[in-house]
Amino acid sequence: MDFHTDYTMTIGGEAVRGAATIDVVNPATGQVFAAAPDCGRDQLDAAVAAARKAFKTWRKVPIEERQALVRKAGETLLAHAEELGRLFTQEQGRPVDAARQEIQGAGGWLQAVSKMTPPVHVSEDSATQFIETRYVPLGVVCAIAPWNFPVSLAMWKVAPALVAGNTMVLKPSPFTPLCTLKIGELFRDIFPPGVFNVISGGDDLGPWMTGHPGFDKISFTGSTETGKRVMESASKDLKRLTLELGGNDAAIVMPDVDLDAVAQKIFFGAFFNTAQICVATKRLYVHEDVYDGLRDRLAGIAAAVKVGDGGEQGTVLGPIQNKRQYDRVMDLLADAKANNLTLIQGGAVPEGGYFVPVTIVDNPPEASRVVQEEAFGPILPMLKFANIDEVIDRANDSEYGLAGAVWSKDLDQAMSIARRMETGTVWINQNLNLRPDTPFAGRKNSGFGIENGMDGLLEYMAPQAMYVAKG
Ligand code: NAD
Repeated sequence: MDFHTDYTMTIGGEAVRGAATIDVVNPATGQVFAAAPDCGRDQLDAAVAAARKAFKTWRKVPIEERQALVRKAGETLLAHAEELGRLFTQEQGRPVDAARQEIQGAGGWLQAVSKMTPPVHVSEDSATQFIETRYVPLGVVCAIAPWNFPVSLAMWKVAPALVAGNTMVLKPSPFTPLCTLKIGELFRDIFPPGVFNVISGGDDLGPWMTGHPGFDKISFTGSTETGKRVMESASKDLKRLTLELGGNDAAIVMPDVDLDAVAQKIFFGAFFNTAQICVATKRLYVHEDVYDGLRDRLAGIAAAVKVGDGGEQGTVLGPIQNKRQYDRVMDLLADAKANNLTLIQGGAVPEGGYFVPVTIVDNPPEASRVVQEEAFGPILPMLKFANIDEVIDRANDSEYGLAGAVWSKDLDQAMSIARRMETGTVWINQNLNLRPDTPFAGRKNSGFGIENGMDGLLEYMAPQAMYVAKG
């Protein structure tokens, strides 16, 4: 298999070319380097029909066999992490080591979820009655992924959907379709035809999918704005829905921290993947006693990290993934400049690609756009605080509720602050740590429903309660 050319969709176990093609751009150069299939409407119909047909038999395959195939899919990703990682860097921009780690992490995720089995509850087993609740698959899943973690976030859906006994059609973002198409190809020999379909296309394809009557459930990861449109579309026939959306995560740094020990961790909790992470620190609240010390250390790290082509030796942070997002980030930067905010920037960045210098905004007003909006790019506002109750209110005063962090040596106090944060995930003295066995769920405009853990698996299933009268 050549990992760098010849991309096909996977429909009913077959390689399918698109009705047309879409261009794929390397964000480090701004140049088109590949073409991906642009799925036609009839091809979407064919993918849904193949998945519906396959569901009839896949749901009856014993769960141990489904788990074994998902495990094999995980092993396959691990075996191809090197080639997929290189392709990932070209289409997504992230430096090669971290790109390979995403593939490996996704492989491990498939393996971990393959060990999960839904429970059976018996509520009564008496002389007169037997009552049990089992979980059954929903049918055909429509899975839609974003471009920031294109492989892992897709596998967060694939693993539970297939273990649960559903079949699916997966669509990557038009900005990062290639690794997912190759994964479709790699999995063709693993799953029975129609169980796992992969299609790619332009901006029309997502709405066609969410409006398609052949799907029973939509699992969507992307922006809040699009998530609302997806929910509207799903309401027409009450499709089941999981929405993992945007975040504007706050981190609170208490005065007792060891600045030298935490500065690197806080920096990469905000800027890893060029800050294009739903759960990155996007508002950094720092106690006034340690504010200057942390700001100077973060500025030092910003000056030292190499921003550049992820394929080049020594690059730590790659480009913004696409032109649309680059324009958005540049607009936020221009707004910060126009409002005379104090910017501390890292070194110069290369020209040609979608590069933005690492930028720390020094104590901007709470109402400024860089504080209120999800930047999804390397602009981090640092904000000073003096009082715990006040900073918790500021952290919670957001339309989002995805994740947050507290940094302190006093774990009791940190946990009491963490419990007051209105987010689905909260970290203490760490960041960005997510596990397949632990539920991940946004509150407020960050989403709806749960991924990961047993709760995440059960989102792909429906309970069926059976009441049996005896005698
Ligand atoms: P996006 O909403 O633009 O696109 C996400 C996906 O939806 C893409 O595959 C896109 O083609 C598709 N899409 C676009 N319009 C659609 C429509 N009307 N109907 C159906 N599908 C449609 O998001 P993005 O720019 O790719 O991703 C960045 C956003 O995703 C950020 O806001 C980030 O915080 C969020 N995100 C959230 C999580 C999470 O788990 N909560 C994880 C990663 C990213």
